[in-house]
Amino acid sequence: MPNTFTENPEIRQRFAELHPPLTAQAAVVESNRCLNCFDAPCMVACPTHIDVPGFIKRIASGNLRGSARRILEANVLAGSCSRACPVEVLCEGACVMHRYDRPPIQIALLQRHAMDAFHRSAEPLIPVQPPPIDLRVACIGSGPASLACAAELRRHGAQVTILERRPLPGGLNTYGVADYKLPTADSLREVELIRQTGVEFRLGAAIETAADLATIESEFDYIFLGVGLGAMQKLGIAGEEAIESGETTGVLNALQLIAAYKTGHITRMHGAVVVIGAGNTAIDAAVAARRLGADPVTMLYRRGPADVSAFDFELAHARHEGVQFIWNSLPVAMHASEDGNLLLEIQSVQLTGGKFELIPGSQSTVPCKTIIPAIGQSPLTQLLSEFRRVTVEHGRIVIDRANGQTSNPNFFAGGDCTNGGREVVDAVADGKRAALGILAASNHAPGKTAEGAHV
Ligand code: SF4
Repeated sequence: MPNTFTENPEIRQRFAELHPPLTAQAAVVESNRCLNCFDAPCMVACPTHIDVPGFIKRIASGNLRGSARRILEANVLAGSCSRACPVEVLCEGACVMHRYDRPPIQIALLQRHAMDAFHRSAEPLIPVQPPPIDLRVACIGSGPASLACAAELRRHGAQVTILERRPLPGGLNTYGVADYKLPTADSLREVELIRQTGVEFRLGAAIETAADLATIESEFDYIFLGVGLGAMQKLGIAGEEAIESGETTGVLNALQLIAAYKTGHITRMHGAVVVIGAGNTAIDAAVAARRLGADPVTMLYRRGPADVSAFDFELAHARHEGVQFIWNSLPVAMHASEDGNLLLEIQSVQLTGGKFELIPGSQSTVPCKTIIPAIGQSPLTQLLSEFRRVTVEHGRIVIDRANGQTSNPNFFAGGDCTNGGREVVDAVADGKRAALGILAASNHAPGKTAEGAHV
């Protein structure tokens, strides 16, 4: 697999991790706090249902390899998930320790401890290669859903090819998760383990036309769609189209910024930045701008702080990084100023009868160098229209949630293109579920393959 990525030391330094790893001693101490609950709520709260008490118990007894294997049985991207998951609202949020007014077990850091040890060991993901089965599957897109689907299929002996339009594999894990949560190199390290199981990767392979799709259909028995979401939405305000954008100036959407610094294409920003929106991606972009040197960085949101879609801890993190906020305001126009900068015109709004109304006389202007829209991604309408034999509603592929099957029995799907954009761990759960659905549909359901071929 070609890997054109070289870690940029300046980016690594600027995007130092939010939560440093546990030392070996701290991991043992923390794992011994776990009560090993019988009906572990942490396990229920995890979308991939990792056996949390089971893997923690193995860390406590010094069995890191067994701990990692236990985790990987449920979640093949457990390394990424240990860093990118919003555990405050998942496993750690469900930990019984909250009932006793004690801090929850640091499940994410313990999981990372086991997975980092696994990656250092250079062990293969599949210890015993299964006998091949007569099943060829193409996964379109190489994000978490496709990777999880591919790994599960390989575990049962299927031939799997991942088709990715970008030069690097990994989807949002590689290009879209803030580097202080999940460094690009760590995402690629995880992808490489999956490649070593025998998954073929075709990078730079865009499926853009009905003819492309027909070619893939003739080559494979089943197709898994893990294509994610479309481009970020534009603001749609006066002057937006006329602004010329450079690498770090002008109008640059949040995912473009995150991908650009994660792949080393930009290392610095200068001047004032305004981020429009207040979701988790908007916060990742605002914090990124701060760490790249922009000052001031201001987030503009049409509602108040109690109504942001970002998690509370993300909002607190942005404040801690020095991000400023303008609440209850909308951008109404933008234009270039005579000194080569931008002027963003904004206006206060109030919510009346469920609609935002501009407050007369409340206009003001924010000078800046860069405007970063982060108001959500549009559905992949154009691409999905090519997959005309699968049902698409509101820009999302409709699937049977039990097995990931679309309205076309040879097409399965999972991840953001089916749910509109959730967490990495949800995509992993979707991908694995679809793999089992494909195996069942092709009469290769688990139990009919060789024993001992566990991930
Ligand atoms: Fe351990 Fe908390 Fe899970 Fe109980 S809920 S098993 S204490 S991590």
